[in-house]
Amino acid sequence: MAYVNENYLKLPGSYLFSEIAKRVGAYQAANPDKKIIRLGIGDVTLPLPPACTEAMHLAVSEMADKKTFRGYGPEQGYKFLTEKIAENDYAKRGISIDTDEIFVSDGSKSDTGNIGDIFGVDNIIAVTDPVYPVYVDTNVMGGRSGTLGEDGRWSKIVYIPCTAENSFIPEIPKEKIDILYLCFPNNPTGTTITKTELKKWVDYARENRVIILYDAAYEAYISEEDVAHSIYEIDGAKEVAIEFRSFSKNAGFTGTRCAFAVVPKGLFAYTKSGEKVEVNRLWNRRHTTKFNGVPYIIQRGAEAVYSEAGQAQIKEMIGFYMENARIIREGVKAINLTAFGGVNAPYIWLKTPEEYTSWQFFDKFLNEANVVGTPGVGFGPSGEGYFRLTAFGDRESTVEAMERLLTLKF
Ligand SMILES: *Cc1c(COP(=O)(O)O)cnc(C)c1O
Repeated sequence: MAYVNENYLKLPGSYLFSEIAKRVGAYQAANPDKKIIRLGIGDVTLPLPPACTEAMHLAVSEMADKKTFRGYGPEQGYKFLTEKIAENDYAKRGISIDTDEIFVSDGSKSDTGNIGDIFGVDNIIAVTDPVYPVYVDTNVMGGRSGTLGEDGRWSKIVYIPCTAENSFIPEIPKEKIDILYLCFPNNPTGTTITKTELKKWVDYARENRVIILYDAAYEAYISEEDVAHSIYEIDGAKEVAIEFRSFSKNAGFTGTRCAFAVVPKGLFAYTKSGEKVEVNRLWNRRHTTKFNGVPYIIQRGAEAVYSEAGQAQIKEMIGFYMENARIIREGVKAINLTAFGGVNAPYIWLKTPEEYTSWQFFDKFLNEANVVGTPGVGFGPSGEGYFRLTAFGDRESTVEAMERLLTLKF
């Protein structure tokens, strides 16, 4: 008889996006003439930078020729790409990362989800709240969650609230933790923390042998000086942090798939009997066993992100989205709502007025302005009373959405 991994049975259905689709569908069916603007999506809309598609076209031609055809590549990624990453993302910021500390993958969703494979089931996991749901759900699958309470919290997971009350700066928890997920700039709140604040976490991790899983998917959107682009800008972080980076949001690779994880060689975890184990060795074993590499064509596209033309093109794309973010921030201020984020990330996190829950606010935006956002509570209990808008839309609909907001009364 075959048995299932019963941890999967603990997972509630993905309520958030199906419920949004249900409500939007019902509204549209009842009001077929209304044009709904979607500012809820967490996906890019601009096409790939020409530098990337040109490189990919060339690579396709190489694959069509017996002399230049390639089959399996190195599971960890081609050197032409890992060398560019080491040079541009790290050496240029004064950080020394070897190419064998870099693991090219098909996405940060996979990486942040898969990394749990190499950590014991007894680790206490901590997440900031609200949070990117992948971190929590994959720990449920891995048996580290305990049970789901009425309050939306898993019994064994430590939740670190990030709300307007603490300026979205996570405070070190009183409970003992072993592994901590941090994402800065943050999805969903669009906020981030300074290098000084990040250093507190690195110091804490070093003192307590905690490993930080640092998701820097929005690094390219940072506009302020005092914000780290990589956690390794903080002294000592290479002893305690694994960093996840992706080409999805900086270069529009959400449908193309390429990312990387950095697992420094001086980073250790421990056996029950207290022996040190190099995490890089375990991740290399896991990655090379369960993954056969990102397609050559795609890695050539990712390499082109680092070319002069590629850098100029991604800068322009990010500038476009961040101008949308500015328009949304202004639009929200114009109706006297408080907005956070949108300065170092393409997300704007609204505080709903006192009398509205996240879902009530969602309904008001949908029914009265025909604008769709994402209810904050869908990202965790501390997201209640917040609402996320994204800057990934086109200019025209972003501007129109803000004009429509002016008609709302609270
Ligand atoms: C979009 C996003 C990613 C990137 O995921 P990919 O799988 O690389 O597309 C990672 N983390 C967060 C928080 C994100 O929002």
